Amino acid sequence: MQDYDLIAIGAGSGGLSAAERAAEYGARTAVIEVGRLGGTCVNVGCVPKKVMWFGAQLADHLRDMPSYGFDVSLKRFDWATLVKAREQYIKGINDWYGQYLRDSKIDHIVGQARFVDAHTLAVGDQHYRAEHIVIAPGAYPVVPSIPGAEHGITSDGFFALTEQPRRVAIVGAGYIAVELAGVLNSLGCEVSMLLRRDHFLASFDPMLRETLMEEMNNAGVHFITQVNVERVEKNAQGKLSVYCQSGITLGDLDCLIWAVGRAPNTQDLNLAVTGIDVTEGGYVPTDEYQNTNVPGIYAVGDVTGRAQLTPVAIAAARRLSDRLFNNMPERKLDYSNIPTVVFSHPPIGTVGLTEDEARAIHGEAVKVYQTGFTPMYHAISAHKQRTAMKLVCVGAEETVVGCHIIGTGADEMLQGFAVAIKMGARKRDFDNTVAIHPTSSEELVTMR
Ligand code: FAD
Ligand code: NDP
Repeated sequence: MQDYDLIAIGAGSGGLSAAERAAEYGARTAVIEVGRLGGTCVNVGCVPKKVMWFGAQLADHLRDMPSYGFDVSLKRFDWATLVKAREQYIKGINDWYGQYLRDSKIDHIVGQARFVDAHTLAVGDQHYRAEHIVIAPGAYPVVPSIPGAEHGITSDGFFALTEQPRRVAIVGAGYIAVELAGVLNSLGCEVSMLLRRDHFLASFDPMLRETLMEEMNNAGVHFITQVNVERVEKNAQGKLSVYCQSGITLGDLDCLIWAVGRAPNTQDLNLAVTGIDVTEGGYVPTDEYQNTNVPGIYAVGDVTGRAQLTPVAIAAARRLSDRLFNNMPERKLDYSNIPTVVFSHPPIGTVGLTEDEARAIHGEAVKVYQTGFTPMYHAISAHKQRTAMKLVCVGAEETVVGCHIIGTGADEMLQGFAVAIKMGARKRDFDNTVAIHPTSSEELVTMR
């Protein structure tokens, strides 16, 4: 049996970061990974998604070109070329991680980990012992239990598509549904979104989701709201039909994508032998220091069910290893004011409280500043896209507790404003900052 100071289950954003930081402090460290190094983000998440989003952005720019005087004609868009370049890029990242682990003296154990006891893991018939075990197995995309659901794919299947689907239906209302719908639509597919409610992105500020829905509608995405899918059928030609409870049917589909949420990869870990508490949904709850209820076992990333974002998994994991191996007993991640971007068309950037959340907590003390405009880029393009911004402020000091942006550049705009908000910036600090002109972001420091 091999003995380590720390073993991470999963070599995704969380597991790799815990192992890397522990190894920097001289700990004997291993990661156990059943799939490709880098986990969801690198292989079937943020990275391939962003490459597709860049492709989609180029398609949007091509449509704007005549307004800027370019007489261009598009011969064709080759999906397979984009996918090949994307996968080569990802393969490079996988290989880089392999070398990095070797250079950092982190053992890479290939296979499926399961607990034997609180300090021992098994992979096949090999056993590995560690004083500290970090559970970081991430999550998988959920497929609903309805007849014919297997004819649909998930985001994993989307990244495996080697041909462009012509007509696509997407079921779901979160980040993934919105992002994939935008990419497919910009790249020329006929896209329908099927929503259970009359809107998507339910937890986001209404200004963001309403603006986005209008823009996506203008861009050609077809919305079918207030529907629950009842069954899916595939005909002899391979075309899919989606039947909804309300009687609505959507047929002649090349592709159906389920984007109805993700569930934690805990079912095969044999957690029962450790006595670790697990929620009804299979998540592993932790305290603010990433401790589970069993000493020596920790959880980070998507498996905890909190803020399922790559930088959150990385930050929590690094702080955990700082605490365990660098004598920093109070080191932990502050989960408040986490900025996040939806890579939609146009993108959304948001941090802090929505207006409704702020009013529920602070009541009359809330003051909101809001603006909406057509950004300069679109002033002369035939296809217009709006930008909207909102600052949610609280108290006599007008502390900014929420910043919500939708529009071109929102994805890159937010990070710096998130620093200011994390530092407790007030509206007057925004006002005291000289604007950068001509930009969209200058509106955030000139709102009245
Ligand atoms: P993961 O990265 O999922 O890593 C877990 C690893 O554990 C996997 O490699 C898995 O194979 C392995 N594993 C599981 N069980 C075992 C086992 N028993 N033994 C061994 N190995 C095991 N976040 C952002 O911040 N920005 C984005 O733009 C973004 N886009 C996304 C787009 C999509 C389509 C998806 C699905 C997610 C996206 N995310 C994004 C979320 C982000 O990918 C996750 O929050 C992040 O990957 C979580 O890291 P993790 O370490 O918890 O899990
Ligand atoms: P989300 O949890 O964001 O959204 C799933 C949504 O689908 C639900 O909110 C729900 O919305 C809807 N839904 C659930 N069940 C059904 C159903 N049976 N029929 C129709 N709709 C249903 O999950 P995602 O899978 O989109 O993303 C998972 C997480 O990954 C995100 O929360 C995010 O943390 C992360 N991620 C981050 C990205 C980024 O940073 N840019 C990009 C992609 C993912 P409703 O209740 O309104 O119907």
